[in-house]
Amino acid sequence: SYVELRKCTNNFAERNEIGSGSYGKVYRGLLTDGLVVAIKRAQQGSTQRLLEFKTEIELLSRVHHKNLVGLVGFCFERGEQMLIYEFMPNGTIRDSLSGKSGVYLDWNKRLSIALGSATGLAYLHEHANPPIIHRDVKSTNILLDENLTAKVADFGLSKLVSDALNGNISTQVKGTMGYLDPEYYQTQQLTEKSDVYSFGVFMLELLTSKRPIEKGKYIVHRVRTTMNKDEEVHYGLWDMIDSSIRDTKNLIGFGQFLEITMQCIENSPEDRPTMSEVVKALETILQNDR
Ligand code: ADP
Repeated sequence: SYVELRKCTNNFAERNEIGSGSYGKVYRGLLTDGLVVAIKRAQQGSTQRLLEFKTEIELLSRVHHKNLVGLVGFCFERGEQMLIYEFMPNGTIRDSLSGKSGVYLDWNKRLSIALGSATGLAYLHEHANPPIIHRDVKSTNILLDENLTAKVADFGLSKLVSDALNGNISTQVKGTMGYLDPEYYQTQQLTEKSDVYSFGVFMLELLTSKRPIEKGKYIVHRVRTTMNKDEEVHYGLWDMIDSSIRDTKNLIGFGQFLEITMQCIENSPEDRPTMSEVVKALETILQNDR
């Protein structure tokens, strides 16, 4: 719904700034009805930005799911471009993994975050009409609500799948280094499987707490090299696992989790599972836990 500018401009104090992204600054705000929100305020920018803004609105206003950060409203007024989202009080998964948010993620929590975010993405791929490829799946785009439910955010880079199918090959590679599907990088042909690859990198982050690129090294390559050296993959990789979860004696479904992760980061898109196959596999792990 449309939100009047005067109802949200008083929120743009520096102390209310919670972050800044490719899109512009993000503020914590309070609407006049008392709802706490996150406001993305775009810098006064090019037509390109305005287009991206409108695309995001169109997409988001159509899409509702418990594992997607909902768009509460928007505003185009007096040169201001703003998107107003549900506020996620527990920050991004990257904040948690880096110990910045004070939310500790044990193994079970990581499993349910993987399942929740996979469910959100499967929804975008298979139930949104027309289907949506996220294009920028990463740990800073997956947030936690007050119940620590994982929600996928930021559709700024999304584009309708139908565009991709109609052969519109984007001229510029978008997305984030460390998460980019190698196939997309070469051909610039984008499919749902590009999100699956990025999601695999995200799963590696959940296992290791490491960033996708550290000291110039890609986590994907490090994991692959480790696993090739060692027949008993579980032991070969063990050193890379976040020590705080490694100490937990019993990592339920660890082997299966690793297996799905490695399938997601296969070089050829056709060797990767679909997001709903990932959901099923993760559900199986969590069910066996009960
Ligand atoms: P990027 O373009 O890098 O993905 P965003 O513009 O989406 O970044 O967001 C920047 C930062 O603002 C995030 O890292 C997060 O800390 C914060 N943020 C974004 N959306 C929300 C939200 N809905 N609730 C709380 N914090 C948010």
